[in-house]
Amino acid sequence: MKYVGAHVSASGGVENAPLNAMEIGAKAFALFTKNQRQWRAKPLSEKSIKAFKENLAASGIAPKHVLPHDSYLINLGHPDPVKLEQSREAFIDELVRCEQLGLEKLNFHPGSHLVKIPKKDPEYEEKLRDAELHCLDVIAESMNIAIEATKGSKVKLVIENTAGQGTNLGYRFEHLAHLIEKTEEKSRVGVCLDTCHTFTAGYDLRTKEAYEETMATFDRIVGFDYLEGMHINDSKPKLGSRVDRHHSLGMGEIGWDAFGFIMNDPRLEDIPLILETIDESLWPQEIEALYRLQA
Ligand SMILES: [Zn+2]
Ligand SMILES: [Zn+2]
Repeated sequence: MKYVGAHVSASGGVENAPLNAMEIGAKAFALFTKNQRQWRAKPLSEKSIKAFKENLAASGIAPKHVLPHDSYLINLGHPDPVKLEQSREAFIDELVRCEQLGLEKLNFHPGSHLVKIPKKDPEYEEKLRDAELHCLDVIAESMNIAIEATKGSKVKLVIENTAGQGTNLGYRFEHLAHLIEKTEEKSRVGVCLDTCHTFTAGYDLRTKEAYEETMATFDRIVGFDYLEGMHINDSKPKLGSRVDRHHSLGMGEIGWDAFGFIMNDPRLEDIPLILETIDESLWPQEIEALYRLQA
């Protein structure tokens, strides 16, 4: 069974997210548990937590099919120690909020190294690789710290693959594998594949052959056992452009075929499949269209 939904609004309170999901016919959803553009947030009130749990139960959506997304401000690989500390604290707070809501996953982008290396530097490639490897180790350390700080919690840290825009890491499956490898408590780690990010990072999905090759590569390097969710987006930029710009399904460079392969892939059962497409008025149709693709 496939669980398709969208990243719905939690404006007015997290308890509104399950209601918004129900309204669009979703069987899964994502949400921000706090304002994603602010560092500080009031703790969730008892009232809000209770209402969220009641509304979630009423929606019939299981906690494992909810994929909260962390704040865009957080960079778990930040080179500045003060900002790194601020990110780590905010990330731990996000994990606590998920736990309070009875949820099991927190989706995050690995982080950015922010190192500027001039392209004309004769050692450009080498310096870039060093910056990336160092940053991945800092991110893994952040993950271990967060897991330790929330010991006893079952909330998984779900690493999202990225388009690799700017100095963002997570655009190679090897980056995800590196982070898993360096995480001590493997039962607390998972990954989320975003179709737009996968595609613009250079992994093709457009033909059956390309799709199977990309998924086989993912399985070999990371493994489907770690896959805890997917983001279902078409892409404005081209294959391998390393630019992160989502599009509505069928309107971008990826096209409908890839979404049909996903909807018929038995390895993608029982995980949240979340739309982050740009026109939310299309979500009910996009959800329906995805289910219609099932053979
Ligand atoms: Zn994301
Ligand atoms: Zn995404």
